[in-house]
Amino acid sequence: MALMITDECINCDVCEPECPNGAISLGAEIYEIDPHKCTECVGHFDEPQCVQLCPVACIPVNPAFAETREQLHAKFLRLQRDAASRAGEVAAPSTPSASAPV
Ligand code: SF4
Ligand code: SF4
Repeated sequence: MALMITDECINCDVCEPECPNGAISLGAEIYEIDPHKCTECVGHFDEPQCVQLCPVACIPVNPAFAETREQLHAKFLRLQRDAASRAGEVAAPSTPSASAPV
């Protein structure tokens, strides 16, 4: 399952930089987890980093996103592919001229 942040969040900002998937961001009032990016840290760490660090223990599983460990790993692989694809687009050099030098 993806995780979620409850309204007990105190906006301490500890979790956001530690998420390996960039799934945590500041919402309108409190921090939020994008369930489409959260893998429960599968593929990166043995334990969810945000849960380990949160000082008020306000990050339970999101019951709306029931996923097996295999599904979480598949999500991890998809996120890795997406990131690699974006990096390729950014790093791709301009297309060299096809014409032969004169
Ligand atoms: Fe990010 Fe891991 Fe927390 Fe999910 S469990 S929000 S991937 S730090
Ligand atoms: Fe909120 Fe916990 Fe994240 Fe701090 S670590 S911003 S309290 S969810």
